[in-house]
Amino acid sequence: MTTNHELFQRAQQLMPGGVNSPVRAFKSVGGEPFFTARADGAYLWDVEGKRYIDYVGSWGPMIVGHNHPHVREAVERAVKNGLSYGTPCPAEVTMAEMITRLVPSIDMVRMVNSGTEATMSAIRLARGATGRNKIVKFEGCYHGHGDSFLVKAGSGALTFGVPTSPGVPKANADLTLTLAYNDLDAARALFDEYGNDIAGLIIEPVAGNMNCIPPKEGYLQGLRELCTKHGVLLIFDEVMTGFRVALGGAQAHYGVTPDLTTFGKIIGGGMPVGAYGGRRELMQQIAPAGPIYQAGTLSGNPVAMAAGLAMLELIQAPGFYEQLAARTRLLTDGLQAVADGEGLAFSTNRVGGMFGLFFTGEKVDTYAQATAADTALFNRFFHGMLERGVYLAPSAFEAGFVSSAHTEQDIADTLEAARAAMRAARA
Ligand code: PLP
Repeated sequence: MTTNHELFQRAQQLMPGGVNSPVRAFKSVGGEPFFTARADGAYLWDVEGKRYIDYVGSWGPMIVGHNHPHVREAVERAVKNGLSYGTPCPAEVTMAEMITRLVPSIDMVRMVNSGTEATMSAIRLARGATGRNKIVKFEGCYHGHGDSFLVKAGSGALTFGVPTSPGVPKANADLTLTLAYNDLDAARALFDEYGNDIAGLIIEPVAGNMNCIPPKEGYLQGLRELCTKHGVLLIFDEVMTGFRVALGGAQAHYGVTPDLTTFGKIIGGGMPVGAYGGRRELMQQIAPAGPIYQAGTLSGNPVAMAAGLAMLELIQAPGFYEQLAARTRLLTDGLQAVADGEGLAFSTNRVGGMFGLFFTGEKVDTYAQATAADTALFNRFFHGMLERGVYLAPSAFEAGFVSSAHTEQDIADTLEAARAAMRAARA
């Protein structure tokens, strides 16, 4: 039998860190990753045959569980007609109709191949449409690995960007202004000073890449007003929240209308897909309708469109989001009760099918609070859960995801594992 350890040894010789995306490597929690042999419903099985209840869901896409027959059969049907055409295909039109119907702020959409491509393209459009160069992002928010986004705040509420990664030119990072998430006064001050130079403000409307931090009441509305006042395009990065926190995304959940929206994850049904869209007059500026260039060899791929469309069909079932939110609540309330019973300082956040766990006694609203929580304790808890067959995201700074395939029994099993894992982690 091939073991996880053997595979990781080989992988490390062949791929940087043994993986094709960094967080999979377990660097943050320590230890070695497992290698998945197959996935079905709420579960993953590794190459050694061990089963895990999965709360990562391929980092968000698998909202109906893994290997759902409706999605798989749609892909099988599509594959029979060829893998890629390089011409327009009917499924792209259906996809665009579906997205524009489900998300009223979007009149027109462009399909791409990842969330990274979607956000890179959206800020190019913002710059092209406004004739301005600066963009604003939030400390702790992740928008893929485009140069403009690999920037974090320096000290102080508003600073010019400092590249987080070697290889990002300082000149590029200088154009990215960073702000603290959930601090409207800091945003007002920044806009007072630089408002006329800012093309777009991009935000995860529920932050999901510094654990899970929902916006404070009125925060997104406040940003909307600021952007409108200063002629700045408001970009909601809904790569994670889109079709996750509500059918219409965070913009529907909070009732705030962005100028541009980016998607990924769920709209691909597990295939590599992204999209960006917005008002017609903005999207008409994209090539070939307009002068702002953006293209893709495999964009609108017929197999990926089939997977995404099948997924979008499933999530429109009546009561889907109510049930998903109820399951998520069962999990987070249950974990809170277990932690309280074990005498551990612990808090949770949750919106729809997305949740965050923090080893701290306070409710977490900010990046500073998220990073101040006890990450060493989280890491021990993570490994305790993994041992007991529950796979949480391998980092204290990632959101968790519940799918419609998670049963009440899965949640009960998770809570039982959590009791033992918390007890062991505390010691
Ligand atoms: N935006 C957000 C909010 C994300 O969470 C991610 C990925 O996790 C991205 C963008 C980048 O998407 P991708 O990994 O598909 O490039």
